[in-house]
Amino acid sequence: MYPESLEKLISCFRRLPGVGERTAERYALMICDEDEEDVAEFAQALIDVRQKLTYCKVCGNLTEGDTCNICADAGRDHRQIFVVQSPKDVIAMEKTGEYHGVYHVLNGLISSTKGILPEDLNIAELVERAKDADEIILATSATMDGETTAMYLSRLLQSKCPDVLVTRIAHGLPSGGMLDYADEITLTHALVDRRKL
Ligand SMILES: [Zn+2]
Repeated sequence: MYPESLEKLISCFRRLPGVGERTAERYALMICDEDEEDVAEFAQALIDVRQKLTYCKVCGNLTEGDTCNICADAGRDHRQIFVVQSPKDVIAMEKTGEYHGVYHVLNGLISSTKGILPEDLNIAELVERAKDADEIILATSATMDGETTAMYLSRLLQSKCPDVLVTRIAHGLPSGGMLDYADEITLTHALVDRRKL
């Protein structure tokens, strides 16, 4: 129905989460009305983010260099490690301004339904880091996969690094809630009220 190039763009927008057919059409038609220069900038931003961003060698967070800004910050407590599912959770926690340790991003959760195994995640690196840490705070979500992952990590860390304190954030978070949807006050409470495992 639309010219081929426009159909192609609509199908690209449809790949974005939460974008249906009509929204995708609206976005694509809007691009047709933009200046060529603005469109080139938009397209370049998509390419840049894919080419320049990589995962931090230390914590697994997104970064443009070898290590992310948080791992490179000597002013933070590198002996306290907050373990999360994704880079979005790091951003949510940083917004609270209440956490001064470092992070470890698993980049996923253990999931029997999705067939995600511990070896698919950034877990071996966490065990290595835990050897030099005072506390590991497990902050995966209160979903079934989040709890399974926290339980697995707790057992693994207690067997490999018995001297490290392993804690779990309090879930005043809505049941099944993801960290990145929690507000800053809820997240701060979840950190303060964490319990020893
Ligand atoms: Zn890092």
